[in-house]
Amino acid sequence: MAFTLPSLPYSNDALEPHIDTKTMEIHHGKHHNGYTTKLNDSLVGNELENKSIEEILKNLDMNNTALRNNGGGYFNHCLFWESLSPKGGGLPTGRLLDAINSVYKSFESFKNAFSNIAATRFGSGWAWLCVHPGGEIELCSSANQDNPLMPGIGSGGYPILGLDVWEHAYYLNYQNRRPDYINAFFEIINWENVNKLYELHS
Ligand code: MN
Repeated sequence: MAFTLPSLPYSNDALEPHIDTKTMEIHHGKHHNGYTTKLNDSLVGNELENKSIEEILKNLDMNNTALRNNGGGYFNHCLFWESLSPKGGGLPTGRLLDAINSVYKSFESFKNAFSNIAATRFGSGWAWLCVHPGGEIELCSSANQDNPLMPGIGSGGYPILGLDVWEHAYYLNYQNRRPDYINAFFEIINWENVNKLYELHS
């Protein structure tokens, strides 16, 4: 059963001015599509061929570079599109907000910590908010297309919010101003989806 590129849950121009249309077209239509095709190619004959993407990442042979890069790229971008919404921004609610406040004291302080992790990830990678069984939250970042489901990467736990800090995610609109892109991300976070994943994986 081959993986397919998921449709965006909004139009390419829906996240303007925070993420520009051209970036969305290339990022989803070319980059994510490329990871999807190469993931399918790299699974041919592999024992994980018919597993879910989560199972593939959890049981990954980290020396299998093609599967690591493209399986990660596939999963990470699926989560990224779901992490965003033109009606996003604002604050999380419920148990997730309680968990954030208990660790970081305030949402503002959580935002600063997440932003700092995203800004200081050198080169290409991702910043993550993860949840552990029981509901404890943890921030981490990872290089390239790695993510915390993979053996030995980041905090472990289940990633419920991910920010792509590869230059392909922001360079057309923000050039080298990654901190501006990170601020814009907070204006369009789909907290409803993050809350849902928190409940599912805590
Ligand atoms: Mn990307």
